[in-house]
Amino acid sequence: MIPPVIRQASNLLRRSGYTVALTGAGISTPSGIPDFRTPAAGLWSQFDPLEVASIWAFAEHPERFYRWIRPLLRRLMTAQPNAAHHVLAEMESRGALRAVITQNVDSLHQAAGSRRVLELHGHTRAATCIDCGFEQPTAPMLPALLSGALPRCPRCGGWLKPNVILYGELLPYDVLRAAQQEALACEVMLIVGSSLEVLPAADLPLLARRRGARLILINQTSTPLDDQAEVLIHDDVARALPQVWHDLAD
Ligand code: ZN
Repeated sequence: MIPPVIRQASNLLRRSGYTVALTGAGISTPSGIPDFRTPAAGLWSQFDPLEVASIWAFAEHPERFYRWIRPLLRRLMTAQPNAAHHVLAEMESRGALRAVITQNVDSLHQAAGSRRVLELHGHTRAATCIDCGFEQPTAPMLPALLSGALPRCPRCGGWLKPNVILYGELLPYDVLRAAQQEALACEVMLIVGSSLEVLPAADLPLLARRRGARLILINQTSTPLDDQAEVLIHDDVARALPQVWHDLAD
């Protein structure tokens, strides 16, 4: 017996000519990645974000930033995409999904095989010198970084910062613009594991709604946009999204 909300979601997706996904921390918590923007649950709990994760704090005290982000980097070395990531990748490969817009910096969508991923908050795959802009891959620096070293720019000696967007930094313009275009173009926005509290991700579903798109919202807890959703599923995304996909693919 398929739960009615699962059936409603799969029916909506079946009729959609253009579906876009929007994902947040909740899609990666089943993979063991802490929700690092939610104060109660996440990495923020021990730190004041402006003290560690703003661009000004980074320039003054990179060691604080790295002490804060080290547990995340350590988990990223072994974290694997879960069933929800895999479903989105499979939907894309079967032509049922155009893009994933994500608030996550963990690269798990790419690890699952998603190709068009718009990362609103950047990623940790590379790091950039805050003085001269020199960029290099993060992977070779990880062992030193995890053992407590602070990464210096090989060109000028400045601090290297992972390509995640900190407080006080502008979001990557081209990524934001592309995400807005997807929101305007889609017929269905499939929101997975986002509490929709952080801008600009919280605005994208409203942008889609204004153009007549329908929202499917799958999240463990309630969000400010629950009443805007045509289909609302409060459940573990790694369980609910595969149910929707199996019902759709049958
Ligand atoms: Zn430099």
